[in-house]
Amino acid sequence: MNIHEYQARDILSAHGVPVPDGEVATTADEAERIARRLGGKVVIKAQVHAGGRGKAGGVKLADTPQEAREHAGRILGMEIKGLPVLRVLVAPAEDIASEAYVGIIVDRASKAPVFMVSREGGVDIEEVAATNPNAIRRQPVDPRYGLLPHQAYSLATSLYDDVRQQRAAAKILQQLYAAFVDSGASLAEINPLVTTPDGEVKALDAKINIDENELFRKPEVEALRDPSAEAPSEVAAREAGLTFIKLEGDVGCCVNGAGLAMATMDLVKYYGGDPANFLDIGGSSNPEKVVNALRIITSDPGVRVILFNIFGGITRCDDVANGIVTATRQINIDVPIVIRLTGTNEELAVQILEQAGFSAMTDMDEAVKRAVHLAKGEGK
Ligand code: GDP
Ligand code: MN
Repeated sequence: MNIHEYQARDILSAHGVPVPDGEVATTADEAERIARRLGGKVVIKAQVHAGGRGKAGGVKLADTPQEAREHAGRILGMEIKGLPVLRVLVAPAEDIASEAYVGIIVDRASKAPVFMVSREGGVDIEEVAATNPNAIRRQPVDPRYGLLPHQAYSLATSLYDDVRQQRAAAKILQQLYAAFVDSGASLAEINPLVTTPDGEVKALDAKINIDENELFRKPEVEALRDPSAEAPSEVAAREAGLTFIKLEGDVGCCVNGAGLAMATMDLVKYYGGDPANFLDIGGSSNPEKVVNALRIITSDPGVRVILFNIFGGITRCDDVANGIVTATRQINIDVPIVIRLTGTNEELAVQILEQAGFSAMTDMDEAVKRAVHLAKGEGK
C-alpha cells in the first residue's frame, strides 16, 4: 500500500526525524491561508502516489501567499503519471546546501532490509543508480538486531564530512529504521535529506510503502489508505476479498490460487499474449466471488478475452461453473470466455456450463493458446 508524502512525514516526525512544518490543502484558497500562517517563502507539493513530482512540475516554490495560491491552483488541476492531484502539501521552503539520499528496502536477494545512502540525492537519484552505482552505499541490516549504532555512524560518515552532520544523520538513519519497522514498511526513503546553509540536517521528502501483509495487525496504518488514489478495480477487488493486480494487457485472467495465477500469466506470455490482470479468486469456492471477479475484469475496457483457469481441489469446479453462469446472466459480457477446469466435480461443471451454452476445456496449454488467439482477433 502506498501512502502520501504528508502521511509518511508524520510517521517520520513521530519517530523524531526533523521535518519542516507544513499542512495539506485541497483548494488554492486553503493553500494561500496556510502560506500566510507559515509566513515567508513556501513550497507547494503535489500529493500523489508517484515519484518524480519535481520533474513533472508538481513541486513549486512561492515567495508570497498570493504566489502560493497560484501554484496550488495549477498543481491541483494537474495529473502526474495519470494520477489526479487532489491535495497539496504547503511547507516552509528551506534553503538547501546539499541533497543526499537515504532509503531502506526489503531486499529479496539478501533476505533482509538493506539501507542505501548516497551523497548525490535529489531528483536525479535514478540516474545516479543507473550510471554511477558506486555513488550509492548499501548496508544490509540483520532484523534481529536492527541498525547497529556503528553501522549508522559508518553510513553517516559516507554522507557528510562535518562531524555534527554525521551525528545528526546517524540519528536520523536509526529513526528511519524504527519508522520502517513500526509501520510495517517494505520501503522507506528520504530524498532529499538536505543540509541547510547553517548546517542543519532535515528530511524534505518522505516516501513509505507499506507491506499489505502487515495491515491486519496495524489498523492505524490501514487508516492511512487513500482509496481515491488507488485504481478503482483494485479497491473493488479488495472489498470483494479477491487478490487482484491490474496489468496492461488484454487477456483477463480468473484463476484460483496465486501459484496457478502466476503460471497462467507465464503461459499467456509464452504464447505471445499479455495478461490484463493477476486475479486469485482464492481457495474456497463461492459463486459470489466469481461474479465479483467477472465484474472487475470486465470493467477494464482493455480486456478482449476472459480466461478461466481453475484447478479444483478445495475449490469445486461446479461452484465456479455456477458462478460463471450466474455472472453472465447478471452482467453483460461482450468478450469471449475461455474456460479450463479440472479436478473436483469437473464432470458436473462441464455439464452446467454446456447446458448454459459454454464449452469447457481441461488442457491448460490449449485453453491459454485459444485465449491468446482470441485476444489477437484471430478467431481460433
Ligand atoms: P519528488 O520529485 O517527487 O521526489 O519531490 P521532492 O519533494 O523530493 O522535491 C523535488 C525537489 O524539489 C527536491 O529535490 C528539491 O531540490 C526541491 N525542493 C523541495 N522542497 C524544497 C524546499 O523547501 N526548498 C528548496 N529550495 N527546494 C525544494
Ligand atoms: Mn523526492
